[in-house]
Amino acid sequence: MELVAAALDGDRYALARLISLIEDRHAAAQDAMSALFPHTGRAHLIGVTGPPGSGKSTLVNALAQQIRELERTAGIIAVDPSSPFTGGALLGDRVRMRDLTGDPGVFVRSMATRGSLGGLAQATNDVVKVLDAAGFDVVLIETVGAGQSEVEIARTAYTTVVLEAPGMGDEVQALKAGLMEIADILVVNKADRPGAARTARALEMVIDRNAARDSDAWQPPILQTIALDGSGVPELLDAIDEHRRHLCATGLLAERERRRVERELVGVLERELLDRLVSRLGREHLDRWIERVVAREVDVYTVASRLCETV
Ligand code: GDP
Repeated sequence: MELVAAALDGDRYALARLISLIEDRHAAAQDAMSALFPHTGRAHLIGVTGPPGSGKSTLVNALAQQIRELERTAGIIAVDPSSPFTGGALLGDRVRMRDLTGDPGVFVRSMATRGSLGGLAQATNDVVKVLDAAGFDVVLIETVGAGQSEVEIARTAYTTVVLEAPGMGDEVQALKAGLMEIADILVVNKADRPGAARTARALEMVIDRNAARDSDAWQPPILQTIALDGSGVPELLDAIDEHRRHLCATGLLAERERRRVERELVGVLERELLDRLVSRLGREHLDRWIERVVAREVDVYTVASRLCETV
């Protein structure tokens, strides 16, 4: 496949084209993914998540610049499940464009929901693979940390960075959104703003409560950054590298990879089985059952087991 060969060479047009095929769930995308797959598994996958406005786009931009300083390359995927038309993500891209356009070592792509959130998660998995196969050293996955589906997408990464900013209310937002459990590194961004130290202390208290259990376990460091001028960003990249070393040394990287593949396979199977079932029975058949459930003639579990018997 010419497109795959060009994408493997890092050809930007081919990358953009391939990603569009994935988003459209085009039949050719599946063959392309199979051809790409043997070339994946080298990039470090970094998730960056946090409440809206905490500075994710700005920080990812600064991280990419720091990665370039070290002569490494970065692919960036900005996932915005809340917006069907990439409003927020586009804004983020504009911020990035200013500093990163024209640099062949950086590739930025926004993704938004076109259908289901599950579809978005799978499309994100595939785009990660495309950028990994294209040879980017690091793939940064930026998601708004606002709900369970976003958390799921963040778990695609090997190292998850959770952002918090001061002055977003007294409570730690990340705590409310259930992001603390997935944090490998915690960042208080906007450290130039008043209240940054207080936010860091609030995070420390939560971490301390969770610590103590296992002294060998990774203790998520709490860093402070000013994404706007890059302060603290080299330290953040050091912490990310250290986390990767920890994952490799303890065998956790392989374990995370296994869990990731399991989640992905289960997701793909669910969709594939459902697609097959629907195409075999026909949409109208399914609709008739739906009507019968609506009429309280039968319950969904009974319908599901009957339908499964037919495959
Ligand atoms: P996102 O919604 O989490 O992606 O946040 P953005 O990156 O779009 O940033 C939200 C706003 O915060 C923008 O106006 C940024 O310029 C600003 N911002 C980002 N980082 C910093 C920082 O370190 N300090 C200050 N004062 N403002 C920041």
